[in-house]
Amino acid sequence: MDEEQVHSKLRALPSVDALLHQPLVQSLRASLSAERLTALAREVIGELRAELLGQESSAPRSDLLVEAAARLCARVERERASSLQRRVINATGVVLHTNLGRAPLADVAVEAMARASRYCALEFDLETGKRGRRGARVERLLGELTGAEAALVVNNCAAATLLVLSALARDGEVIISRGELVEIGGDFRIPDVMAQSGATMVEVGTTNRTRLVDYERAINARTRLIARVHQSNYRIIGFTHAPSLEELASLAHAHGLFLYEDAGSGALVDLRQCGIDGEPIIRESLEKGADVVTFSGDKLLGAAQAGLIVGRRECVERLRRHPLYRALRVDKLTLAALEATLEIYRRGHHLDQVPALRMLAVTPEELERRALSLASRLRASAPKLRVEVIAGQSAVGGGAAPMANLPTSLVALEHEEHSAAEIERALRQSDPPIIARVSDEKVMLDLRTVAADEEVNLFNALLKVA
Ligand SMILES: *Cc1c(COP(=O)(O)O)cnc(C)c1O
Repeated sequence: MDEEQVHSKLRALPSVDALLHQPLVQSLRASLSAERLTALAREVIGELRAELLGQESSAPRSDLLVEAAARLCARVERERASSLQRRVINATGVVLHTNLGRAPLADVAVEAMARASRYCALEFDLETGKRGRRGARVERLLGELTGAEAALVVNNCAAATLLVLSALARDGEVIISRGELVEIGGDFRIPDVMAQSGATMVEVGTTNRTRLVDYERAINARTRLIARVHQSNYRIIGFTHAPSLEELASLAHAHGLFLYEDAGSGALVDLRQCGIDGEPIIRESLEKGADVVTFSGDKLLGAAQAGLIVGRRECVERLRRHPLYRALRVDKLTLAALEATLEIYRRGHHLDQVPALRMLAVTPEELERRALSLASRLRASAPKLRVEVIAGQSAVGGGAAPMANLPTSLVALEHEEHSAAEIERALRQSDPPIIARVSDEKVMLDLRTVAADEEVNLFNALLKVA
């Protein structure tokens, strides 16, 4: 292409200024800053320029200004569509869906956050008028619910692990089994956190079998901690062995060491009636002799993102005094949500009032009844859909309890004209967006994670696509 050809092609390209003066673009000025609009206009013009230069023919395109305005509006729409303020319907049956925000909060937790969003006694003692301790009430509730002497709250469980290792083992050694060097989704890897903390990781045993003597042989003058990390999102089955927490605690204490357990999700109460087995119950871990235990606020606990640390006062106070704590501490909104959620547990109402637990506790009969009812309504109103109800499994998600037995009834959909992938996309792009699974060329809806008042959205969206 010679210079003249390039020139004639680019002549049709509107200027950024002309684009900004289009009525459609002007109408966006109420919701976007002038700078953002100009930046978007530049991006769109740049995109059109690249397309023009890539084209074979140089047929003039008189509608380029209109085209540019439409593209700019579409970009703004896409930005809005992914706003966090938009509710999303989770029809995947994965209760703690990390990509969808893990645990949905209890109503009282949401109300508590709203109240705390104004001035509140975050670090103020209303009795004496002096400075109070941030998170004191959450710490007290955690102590009550787990039997711990002391507690501390940080930003997430990854932060809790980093703080424990930094404060209790920097420049020393931490003994850990090779079967527990986990990676949790989103780049949390035990060896990396260990390196970041300044502690040296001493791996013992093998992937499937680690014995008490393996730990014992690794103890030397530089050892600071014995660590037990919950396998969270995977299980090793078959020819396996790991010492019990009690055995590890006796060994650690006989050598003047602390035992640290990263429980991951953990649970505040026994959740076997929800199909959850094998997650450490925090109170039991402490009773078995762990000196410090960390777990997440937004996994099975069902509250906001946070890392909860409980254990012996001596350990917890060392964490509180460590400079990293100031960088990892949580804000008042998180503390308010935690406080309200822990109060639900203390009243014993967690199975009805903590949404994640309520979803896990729903009976298979109830799920089947809801699925059959939605299926029959769809059959009556959407003749092009083939609707079946089939048996399936929901999942806990969030890297917790991968083997949980959560039988459910799936509404399985096929369409006469559209593929499963097309239906899945249409649901995802409806308002509110609906997230569903596809398997065996069918769209699968699991009502376990769909609130009763969201079923009408699901129904209407399906009528639209069908
Ligand atoms: C999930 C998990 C973490 C990370 O927790 P976040 O709260 O997501 O930071 C750490 N350790 C274990 C064992 C986990 O299961």
